[in-house]
Amino acid sequence: ARTILITGAASGICKATAELCRAAGDTVISVDIRDADIIADLSTGEGRATMLREAERLAPNGLDAVLAGAGLSRADMPRETVAVNYFGAVATLEGLRPLLLKSARPRAVVICSTAAILPGNDLLVETCLAGDEAAALAIAGDAPRSVYPDSKRAISKWLRRTAGSREWAGSGILLNGVGPGVVETAMTAPMLKQPEMVEMIKKSNPMAVEGYAQPEEIAELLVFLLGFTNHYMVGQLIFIDGGTDIIMRPEQV
Ligand code: NAD
Repeated sequence: ARTILITGAASGICKATAELCRAAGDTVISVDIRDADIIADLSTGEGRATMLREAERLAPNGLDAVLAGAGLSRADMPRETVAVNYFGAVATLEGLRPLLLKSARPRAVVICSTAAILPGNDLLVETCLAGDEAAALAIAGDAPRSVYPDSKRAISKWLRRTAGSREWAGSGILLNGVGPGVVETAMTAPMLKQPEMVEMIKKSNPMAVEGYAQPEEIAELLVFLLGFTNHYMVGQLIFIDGGTDIIMRPEQV
């Protein structure tokens, strides 16, 4: 049996993934601000340190896989959105890398988003990638309009820049990303109640007329990427979005 740490596991996509992993016989260590094995606020340095300390205690023999899935999409909390979606995810993956190195075949996945392909504030993205959290949170607080897409574009770029390095693929850890479109979870419930948002989504999502994705179907893809079956896919950001990416960027290969 494998030991898998999952952040954001109290709800939605990550909860569904934790359930699939447990059903397959894996040991899951859940991390969240509530209802989890490790209670930690990943928007803060203190919370991130708690997660790492507790992970070492609960998995002294190492981790076989890590899913960095905790995320936030709150227009009224722009600083926290960037702190969790970018800096929390990077801290999770980099901080737990020593535990992954103890596994014979380690895997890691970060949940990005199709929102990453939307235009936004490139200064915020570059400030995230430079690792300057204080400056990035200040920019997010001053110009909160596109922080969710920006935080997801930043983590997507981080994934592409990082996965092939000596520390990751070079050390045998396969790191990939998944970019969901609209999935019916607690995160999207308020948005899907607004008719004008639903109209906008339909324009870039041909599947929307037949409903959105359910957390369980994203979980199936995540389980594949977290497992041994994948031994050759590295650094990819896989969109699972009902066609939004191909409609918005048909020429992108
Ligand atoms: P969700 O709200 O159901 O689950 C997110 C989880 O993250 C929650 O349990 C929440 O408590 C946790 N979390 C939030 N802030 C945290 C913090 N500071 N510290 C620790 N945990 C925290 O949402 P979901 O839709 O399942 O989202 C999971 C991931 O998928 C997120 O990264 C989200 O951005 C991404 N995503 C979702 C959609 C969608 O349509 N639902 C689309 C694209 C990407």
